[in-house]
Amino acid sequence: YAHWTKPARRQPPRGSDQTGGPHTMSENGTQERRPRHTGNGGARARPRGRRADPGDLDALRQLLSDPPYRRDLLIEYLHAIQDHDRCLRPSQLAALAELVGLSQTEVYEVATFYAHFDVVDEHEPAPPPLTLRVCDSLSCQIAGARQLLRDLNESSGDGVRVVRAPCMGRCQHAPTVAVGQFHVDHATTEKVAEAVACGSTAAVVPPYVDLDSYRQQGGYSTLSKCVSGTFSADFVMNTLNDAGLRGLGGAGFPPGRKWQLVRAEPGPRMMAVNADEGEPGTFKDRYHLENNPHTVLEGMLIACWAVDAEKVYFYLRDEYPAIRQLLSSEIAALRSAAIPMADRIELRRGAGAYICGEESAMIESIEGKRGLPRHRPPYVAQCGIHGHPTLVNNVETLYWIRDILEKGADWYAGHGRSGATGLRSYSVSGRVKEPGVKLAPAGISARELIEDHCGGMADGHGFRAYLPGGASGGILPASMADLPLEFGALEAHGCFVGSHALIVLGDQDDLREVALNLMHFFEDESCGQCTPCRVGTRKAATLMSAPNWDTGLLRELAQAMSSASICGLGQAAGNPLLSLLRYFPEELEA
Ligand code: SF4
Repeated sequence: YAHWTKPARRQPPRGSDQTGGPHTMSENGTQERRPRHTGNGGARARPRGRRADPGDLDALRQLLSDPPYRRDLLIEYLHAIQDHDRCLRPSQLAALAELVGLSQTEVYEVATFYAHFDVVDEHEPAPPPLTLRVCDSLSCQIAGARQLLRDLNESSGDGVRVVRAPCMGRCQHAPTVAVGQFHVDHATTEKVAEAVACGSTAAVVPPYVDLDSYRQQGGYSTLSKCVSGTFSADFVMNTLNDAGLRGLGGAGFPPGRKWQLVRAEPGPRMMAVNADEGEPGTFKDRYHLENNPHTVLEGMLIACWAVDAEKVYFYLRDEYPAIRQLLSSEIAALRSAAIPMADRIELRRGAGAYICGEESAMIESIEGKRGLPRHRPPYVAQCGIHGHPTLVNNVETLYWIRDILEKGADWYAGHGRSGATGLRSYSVSGRVKEPGVKLAPAGISARELIEDHCGGMADGHGFRAYLPGGASGGILPASMADLPLEFGALEAHGCFVGSHALIVLGDQDDLREVALNLMHFFEDESCGQCTPCRVGTRKAATLMSAPNWDTGLLRELAQAMSSASICGLGQAAGNPLLSLLRYFPEELEA
């Protein structure tokens, strides 16, 4: 594989020599290509590359589902091998390529793109049986994750490896450590050691409203009204528009309007549920799925019916193994109960790539490829999964559908403040007494959320600053905490509300460290497709690690990333840095 471009997401560990890195991709974003040379007039004596071993082929046939092997299930197959062997080896990738009918390069580049796959050399030992993943995203960092990572590295014994990991969506329980698939919340070395000693490594499915209970409470009656013709598709979409429902994955595009756009496209149409909430500080989708999965699933099936989608892909981040278990069993229950369109649902497992929360990158991943965002136009509503018009909705957006249709547009629109309409699920973490998901009116301010919904600031911490929209949404000073947390209300201040993830910072938090943490996150998660983002995030992190910031150069970098990156990750990566320069200049005078 040595001649192939290695994906940029496989970056060297921080602190290592950054001059060359693993990229063979040139800095102008082009990839070196080998000539399509065959050397014998067009016919090739044998396929280029490594030959698949018959033993490996047999082993994979036994491990994977029955043929035909589908290209779009490549990531599922990689998961199956990794779950079985704890790693992926070149011989297995070669065999998988042959089974799926792909080039070895395509399989290799997918396997090395996603952080949750461990590709090791043929004779290298497999990773230890147990992996401890220590979340080092912002809420966990300010709760002591860095020291915890050091302590666990020193104290972990044989058979255990300790790695840092990006946000696991458990920010209200910071710091969090995943022991295998078991999450230790408010983690300490003692609590982690206890989990390891007890062999607590499996995901724990929380109590939730299952299909029977949900139906006893009237669940799926709204879907029945749609399917039976009591509600027309136009009525449903107009009701959502009248309610003022916004897309709650971060962009805020009205779902009623989106459904109308997709429905107007020629079939066949597809649908995807974006359950890949990876924005640090965001955990509201996890909350809804863990508590009321069928409210989301019913909203999803209503959307599927409204746009007449042939297939619905539920793309769930890999950091939520308990939800994967409960969704698997509840989707099976839907099929057994013959709930309309349940047979169209396909649950898909992410593999540790924040960028796959971007809808076109998610679609690439659903197709079994690297999660590289697409250029637009065409938009996914016109050309999405396998080239078909595709509706993409976020989990929380779907969560509100049933209530709006049952209680009416006026009920939902009647909530809200400062000109905003509706209800929102705010993920609140950081220096507050009672972090968690807070159901509150749209347009509420950070100060109101902290004081009225979170019990005020945590003991010993004065309110200094806040992130209104997770890692990407910028940083605002406490003096601006009366602004409404709503789409369009913060942009003039260089920020945005995005997925409504509020991270509250106190007067003892080092804001330079905060901004550096966020830049490292973007550096790690950049897909590497475009130079301003891939190189800009790395250079910015290097400059921000220096005792004195080169503010002129940092501004230039932020400008280049913002205006020349393909997708929102690169476009927003400079936000925390620019916020510091704008609102906290005293931080840079040290
Ligand atoms: Fe990838 Fe960053 Fe470019 Fe987005 S902006 S496509 S994450 S390199």
